[in-house]
Amino acid sequence: MSKLKVVKYGDPVLRQVAEPIHKFSPKIQKLIGDMFDTMYAENGCGLAAPQVGVSKQLFVLDCSNETKRYGKMVFINPKIVRKKGACLSHEGCLSFPEVFVDVKRYNEITVRFQDMKGKPQEMTVKLEEHPLLCRAIQHEMDHLNGILFVDLAVDQHGADVLLKAKDLPSIDPAKNVIEPALEEAYSQLENPVAVTE
Ligand code: ZN
Repeated sequence: MSKLKVVKYGDPVLRQVAEPIHKFSPKIQKLIGDMFDTMYAENGCGLAAPQVGVSKQLFVLDCSNETKRYGKMVFINPKIVRKKGACLSHEGCLSFPEVFVDVKRYNEITVRFQDMKGKPQEMTVKLEEHPLLCRAIQHEMDHLNGILFVDLAVDQHGADVLLKAKDLPSIDPAKNVIEPALEEAYSQLENPVAVTE
């Protein structure tokens, strides 16, 4: 197992739509192991394959904290098949060192995916039960579609200031993501407070 280089914002691979995985080969198993090594070494809770320069539909998570243990979770060829509600989510990303911004996320999702053996799985995750896992799945899913969390920043100007301070490229207004269903659910929240854990 080995630690891989995490690509930073500005690298074109982060904007590509990742390719589906058809073969659950030893090469993929090794990539998964290396991605976990990399994620733990960087103190992250999630890492998508494009972040290590591999444009494939794969991400790994470990959302364990002081109170809950999740362990290693692997999502291959994932699709969010149901989503509802909304929340404000305070997020960072290993491809954006020391940049944290608030974005809108759903507060309940159902995701279909394959595990590392290729077996189909389905999981429904609610924010109230699993706050970090619910938000992390949505963040990592976006990576597989070339979408980055700053594209969803509630305060685009504020996010841009943070990026400049870290010598990262500016926000690309053309990449700004507005999802009508999410906007509608979010507009019904009273005084949304960003979820941080
Ligand atoms: Zn990320």
